Amino acid sequence: MNNMLACPSCGLDETESIVHFGSYILRCAACGEAIVATSFMAMLESDHAFSAFADPGPGKHLAPEMLIARGPLRQIATTISGAASNGTLIRLIPEPKD
Ligand SMILES: [Zn+2]
Repeated sequence: MNNMLACPSCGLDETESIVHFGSYILRCAACGEAIVATSFMAMLESDHAFSAFADPGPGKHLAPEMLIARGPLRQIATTISGAASNGTLIRLIPEPKD
């Protein structure tokens, strides 16, 4: 999930992965600018494991108690979609592969 996209507003290349309603967004970790958006559905064939958190905001640290789901994306997608369907921003963190 690494990428070298730089923010068009501030030039930082550190992005956060966000799910908002049915969209998957790469967001600048510094200023919060949305850099790339695609459909969350396009992600669902992934077997890569993620941790999904309720998003505290750009650049903010994630608290363990904000964890919503963890596991292969295709298994936790329903939980993520449900949590995102009311407009809650969901931060996806890729789990390291063993
Ligand atoms: Zn930025």
